[in-house]
Amino acid sequence: MTKLFETTWSDIARAGARLGLTTDALGSLAEPSRIVEVGIPLTKDDGTTQTVRGWRVQHSNARGPFKGGVRFHPHVQVDDVKNLALLMTLKCAVVDIPFGGAKGGVSIDPRTLSRSELERLSRGYVRQIEPLIGPWTDIPAPDVGSGEETMAWMVDEYSMLSHSFTPAAFTGKPVATGGSRGRRAATGYGGFDVLEVVQSELGAPLKRVAVEGFGNVGYHFAEKAAEQGMTLVGVSDIHDAVTNPGGLDPAQVLKSKLATGRVAGAGGHEVSHSALLAMDTDVLVLAAIEHSVTARNADSIRAKVVLELGNNSVSAEAGETLAKKGILVIPDILANAGGVVASYFEWTQNLQGYYWTEADVLSKVRDKLHVAARDVFAVRDEHTVNLRTAAQMLALERLMAAMPHHAATPRLTPVNV
Ligand code: NAD
Repeated sequence: MTKLFETTWSDIARAGARLGLTTDALGSLAEPSRIVEVGIPLTKDDGTTQTVRGWRVQHSNARGPFKGGVRFHPHVQVDDVKNLALLMTLKCAVVDIPFGGAKGGVSIDPRTLSRSELERLSRGYVRQIEPLIGPWTDIPAPDVGSGEETMAWMVDEYSMLSHSFTPAAFTGKPVATGGSRGRRAATGYGGFDVLEVVQSELGAPLKRVAVEGFGNVGYHFAEKAAEQGMTLVGVSDIHDAVTNPGGLDPAQVLKSKLATGRVAGAGGHEVSHSALLAMDTDVLVLAAIEHSVTARNADSIRAKVVLELGNNSVSAEAGETLAKKGILVIPDILANAGGVVASYFEWTQNLQGYYWTEADVLSKVRDKLHVAARDVFAVRDEHTVNLRTAAQMLALERLMAAMPHHAATPRLTPVNV
């Protein structure tokens, strides 16, 4: 099976070729700077112990400290972590924030652990990677299977190990422990911010939207879109898919989800997951998992615009099919960058010790995303490429501008080796 990292890298190398960059010129981007595999000792509540596999992959720090989430998932492999670290390098460059790219992975199903087991595991992971991370070296964040509380434990462990309160070493923390107001909503709202630029580029209003994956990102996107006058014609979660041409109320869907754990029950008609994806709508938002649109179902998609809020929600093959059908795909490294932009503002607030209002943070995120989206459209128009290639080209241009002045991955200090 072709590896994810290799597939993404070939795509990026093709974007580089459009800029006249040879594989040699792309140099160190072709491989992560550092891959660290750890065994995390975990004592279970019943006194037994096990060793859990984990990784930290630092892809590039040419533009700033490594940055990326930590995924807790039973099937996570080093290849996934490498792939996601590469995407982070590109994403931070597309939105022009001073970070490189990294990712972490812990091979566990967090739902099988008690809260205290999860805390011990989170702290144990930090003890294993502590020499590699820090506010100016590598700043982890939450990802699938981890969350705000995980970050609170991790930053506390890191602060203990480094003998000083160091909130800027992690982002995505609860507001009570140095997190940023607005961070929780930023990826979903940011998707809408990007869509505003798409609308103005298309010169036509986008009125109806269906959202696959009504979780944190999907809900916040839907909330913002409905507030701004769009009609939510369908939603899904892992259990159900529901449609209503007259419009669903995101607040009611959330209420139902919180009460029953499912999106069904807030009005509308239940349909199959594939029917939701195939809806005749202006915008299809993908906010669930990787590869929800693949060669298998790409032909059935009928939306005018696909907004890729999940990483790699549209496979490379599916992207080609959608392009042939004239469907505009807004790529993940632009569409879901609101989260990392808010993380950047969390980090800056931690470093300066001065905190902003939610409105301030979200308006700064919106400004950054508007500029990035316009930059991506400009590259698309200049080179006549699709938006994914344009975003990759923009990222590569910015990375190449920094790389000649960049020496290497920071050395581990002797005391830590
Ligand atoms: P989440 O766990 O809160 O929500 C995911 C939702 O998707 C859940 O409602 C789940 O039921 C649903 N889902 C899962 N499989 C599905 C399927 N087959 N069909 C329909 N729905 C399905 O996660 P989230 O934080 O909202 O993240 C969503 C996606 O966005 C993930 O791919 C994540 O990697 C990506 N992302 C998140 C952030 C962030 O800040 N949270 C940032 C960048 C990218």
